[in-house]
Amino acid sequence: DGTIRFDDVRFAYDPERPILKGISFEVPAGKSVAIVGPSGAGKSTISRLLFRFYDVQDGAVTIDGQDVRDVTQTSLRAAIGMVPQDTVLFNDTIAYNIRYGRPDASDEDVHQAAEMAQIADFIDGLPQGYETMVGERGLKLSGGEKQRVAIARTILKAPPILILDEATSALDTATEQEIQASLDLVSRGRTTLVIAHRLSTVIGADEIIVLRDGQIAERGKHADLLAIP
Ligand code: ADP
Ligand code: ADP
Repeated sequence: DGTIRFDDVRFAYDPERPILKGISFEVPAGKSVAIVGPSGAGKSTISRLLFRFYDVQDGAVTIDGQDVRDVTQTSLRAAIGMVPQDTVLFNDTIAYNIRYGRPDASDEDVHQAAEMAQIADFIDGLPQGYETMVGERGLKLSGGEKQRVAIARTILKAPPILILDEATSALDTATEQEIQASLDLVSRGRTTLVIAHRLSTVIGADEIIVLRDGQIAERGKHADLLAIP
């Protein structure tokens, strides 16, 4: 389960300026759909509607046939995992940061998630910037390592639905490829909505939707879209 549907969704932050002008798509359970488009096209707005940070003004967003307006934000947060562009770490150990959202998880499960995300070596360390508060030396995490913390958190949470919102766009090309490979593993078998700037980062998506000016301009597989001038 975890099928997402947007049915003729219309949304505006400001009534004078519609952002989504009738968007329909489905992410079938376990599949991945990528939303691609220029900055300001409305990509992140789509993920905010799914989380119910805002409610649609017309049309409907459903998960497994249920309108998200009938679902509590607590259940939505439990069902949806999110890897954002920049992961903000809490003032505590990396292990604590991985456990965030799953306070009851065992140490063993946290460790296993960290191993899968390849950050097991430093889960007892503190992120740099917070060390003075406890008199310890903090770890200077690279952007890629911070994304690995977010990946470990997602592995532990194991949500049916995953949103990757520009999850690799702040990284250099070599790191982007490494993190992309880890994200591919995590998203396998999960309903995944990928938000990206560039087509080249969503080659494996089951469907790619090109959003332009609040509307779906093109849709298809990566190879189909490459043929568009
Ligand atoms: P994208 O993710 O494609 O860059 P967004 O969905 O973040 O685009 O934003 C789409 C448009 O909505 C942009 O023009 C942006 O300025 C505007 N916008 C985003 N959030 C808000 C908000 N909270 N209030 C008003 N306008 C907003
Ligand atoms: P991003 O998704 O790129 O990290 P945001 O989603 O926060 O950034 O915002 C996307 C765009 O929406 C930005 O151009 C930002 O300036 C604009 N935006 C965000 N919140 C508001 C708001 N409350 N009012 C107007 N514009 C906003």
